[in-house]
Amino acid sequence: MPMVIYAKIAIDKQWTQYEWAVVAPINTYNVTLNIADYANFKEIYTNKKGETLELDYYVLAYNLDKAKKHFKQTHEVVACFEEYFGKYPFWEDGIGFVETPYLGMEHQSAIAYGNQYMRGYLGGMIPKDMNWDYIIVHEYGHEYFGNSVSAKDIAEMWIHESFTTYMEAIYVECKYSYADAIRYLQGQRPYIRNQEPIVGPLGVNFDGWSGSDHYYKGAWMLHSLRHAINNEDLWLGLLKSIHQKFAYSTTTTKEIIAFVNQYLQKDYTPFFEQYLYSAELPIFEYSLWQQGRQLKLRYRWSTPLSSFDMPIFVGKRIATK
Ligand SMILES: [Zn+2]
Repeated sequence: MPMVIYAKIAIDKQWTQYEWAVVAPINTYNVTLNIADYANFKEIYTNKKGETLELDYYVLAYNLDKAKKHFKQTHEVVACFEEYFGKYPFWEDGIGFVETPYLGMEHQSAIAYGNQYMRGYLGGMIPKDMNWDYIIVHEYGHEYFGNSVSAKDIAEMWIHESFTTYMEAIYVECKYSYADAIRYLQGQRPYIRNQEPIVGPLGVNFDGWSGSDHYYKGAWMLHSLRHAINNEDLWLGLLKSIHQKFAYSTTTTKEIIAFVNQYLQKDYTPFFEQYLYSAELPIFEYSLWQQGRQLKLRYRWSTPLSSFDMPIFVGKRIATK
């Protein structure tokens, strides 16, 4: 649906033919068909520069009033991601949500929405004091990572899911605070299993993961990268640049790592190798001992990947409210 109506042709008294089109490149799995007794409403999103974009909603007719209220939050989501990643990538096709019987899917410019107008994920999965719709944020996030920046091989689906999962935390940070984003990310930790590498075997259409590490562990990997960089401007610049560099194209893990290394002028290859290609986590080993009035600390990362290194914060944290 949404996309743009290309043609509406009256075949005879009984039949009308609708043709839809997108002008931007699209993954084949993002093409879908929705048929129902839909009511359509539109809103206009205006960004900081005063540019406008149509938000197009197709919802079940009996949910129209509820939907009009609920989807007000889309404006904030679009604004946040525009700030962090640049303009919505499919500006010409518009932003669209279509109500579906299933939970959600990132169909480009016609996002499937089935979260029943609830907060979080069917009412849960986000901290109790937060109020935002997981499906709107996650599936819309995929317009950047998944639909605009796409993996060449689905075994590298982390390019879609890890970035989009971290975008959820970015949204929380944008809407609430950094501390709340950490709280949100911590809620994902129990789902990390460390039983298989995030990147699967290439060239065999692999999608046989037994867990969701390509979502949650990948998001935490990006969070670790952020703190290894330890420079917010650089991190934010990198995030935006990754999207801009690979927009409207298919890419690979190797290309992304090479881009990160070049952007940061530092070799993060072992960091990515550890978290993407190895199931096990590096173990942080340390010892403390007293020497006169001083407390000494010795530490190292223990992992079979000898080149792995990641700086960690040592010292007293300044308490923040
Ligand atoms: Zn997803």
